[in-house]
Amino acid sequence: MLFRKSKPATGATIDVINPATEQIIATIPRGTAADIDLAVAAAKSAMAGPWSRTSGKERAVILRAIAAGIEAEKQTLAELEVADNGKPLPEALWDIGDAAYCFNLYATYAEDLDARQGETIAVPDERFETRMQYVPAGVAGLIVPWNYPLLMASWKVAPAIAAGCTMVLKPSEFTSLTAIELGRIATAAGLPDGVLNVVTGYGHEAGARLAEHPDVRKLAFTGSIPTGVKVALAAARDIKSVSLELGGKSPIIVFDDADLEQVVEWVMFGIFWNQGQVCSATSRLIVQRGIAPRLIERLVEEAKKIKIGDGMGEGVLLGPLVSKLQYDKVMGFIADGKREAKLACGGARPPGFNAGYFVQPTIFTDVPASARIWKEEIFGPVLAVAGFTTEAEALHLANDSEFGLAAAVMSADLDRAQRVAGELEAGVVWINCSQPNFLEPPWGGMKKSGVGRELGLWGLNNFLEPKQITRYTTTKPWGWYLK
Ligand code: NAD
Repeated sequence: MLFRKSKPATGATIDVINPATEQIIATIPRGTAADIDLAVAAAKSAMAGPWSRTSGKERAVILRAIAAGIEAEKQTLAELEVADNGKPLPEALWDIGDAAYCFNLYATYAEDLDARQGETIAVPDERFETRMQYVPAGVAGLIVPWNYPLLMASWKVAPAIAAGCTMVLKPSEFTSLTAIELGRIATAAGLPDGVLNVVTGYGHEAGARLAEHPDVRKLAFTGSIPTGVKVALAAARDIKSVSLELGGKSPIIVFDDADLEQVVEWVMFGIFWNQGQVCSATSRLIVQRGIAPRLIERLVEEAKKIKIGDGMGEGVLLGPLVSKLQYDKVMGFIADGKREAKLACGGARPPGFNAGYFVQPTIFTDVPASARIWKEEIFGPVLAVAGFTTEAEALHLANDSEFGLAAAVMSADLDRAQRVAGELEAGVVWINCSQPNFLEPPWGGMKKSGVGRELGLWGLNNFLEPKQITRYTTTKPWGWYLK
């Protein structure tokens, strides 16, 4: 059975708002527990069918067809993402290209998986032979946030298909449009009925039911820590496998000897890209005192030049925040920042903007380690700056956080940069850059930034159950009871 109900059980809908104009541009079904139950049933029945016996090679054909389908509609999908999320069009085009790349990459991993089936594991007793079988984990529940709508969905859907799972995808209620399109593209690419089921709706309704559904065997969640805790608790009740990609408050350490203009570029990319709504945003600048005054001056100068506007506008580098909720949250942090630290630039709605959830690029300096804007994830274009003298002091400031997603270090001294990178408590560390991310290495955080890793082979393994099959190879008696 294909789960293709376009109307939710209750008939209710959610308004989709363009964050640049505050206009309603569409409505999406407000799926509830009843819709999740139908979708999980469809996924379960597909799992029991021929899909679970497909080879990696067969699944790779479908994955590549999905990638081609995304590529073919790149411009339309990117424009949809701009209208739904607010991000500037060049960033949306980048995301959509990455999403297609992700499906192609997992096509290759799916093919490689065939070669891994039956591989032997050396055991220290020649009377036994152990071979491996990698079986799909079963029905997967995929819950994603709004900051990279299609890309975050792809990071989960592509490996889940590669592994041979079936799935229910619950996109964010703020940005569901490209996930709905992904469902259509996947069907056109030949994905069998019931393998990918997209249910839109609110987190506390559709999301919560998906997390607790007894027939879901694997949960893959990306979002905030408070929701991550709820998902982990729901998973615990049924002993479901769960991977969590959560928030961050990532540091970028800048030493005196770093190239000033390179630092300006990467610090800005690290906090203003995607309006700062990036889990790995390097939102805490930890700068050595020698370079600090010149760096802050240059950052302020460049931040003031950033063109703000509707993501479809020519040359726009900063769009609106995704929603009124996010705008109010970020403005609340800025109000706190004005009490806690020194405002170097921004800190308000840009002048002349009467509609849309726009916030100026904002920089706070002299931020104490006790400040809320230093400790908590803001998820907006707000940079907090603190100074340091010694390497040890910089590392202490950087690691003194409940988060451990990402970190960056900038220095002309590569030995020092490598040493500091080795000491940073983060799942992702950048040297002399911030944010570039490839899909082959693992992605994920230490401490409260998450559990497990996505992307690369780690992403595929999330959706596989490794099974060992051990055979007694000799006809000689084992000789324990029967002497
Ligand atoms: P969120 O936690 O509010 O929502 C994430 C998803 O969970 C949404 O689909 C939402 O509907 C759903 N949800 C909400 N309540 C639920 C519940 N009780 N049970 C099940 N699902 C529920 O997060 P957000 O505001 O959409 O996204 C921003 C957060 O995501 C930030 O903290 C950011 O750092 C994090 N993030 C992390 C990564 C990463 O790779 N580590 C990537 C992107 C975003």
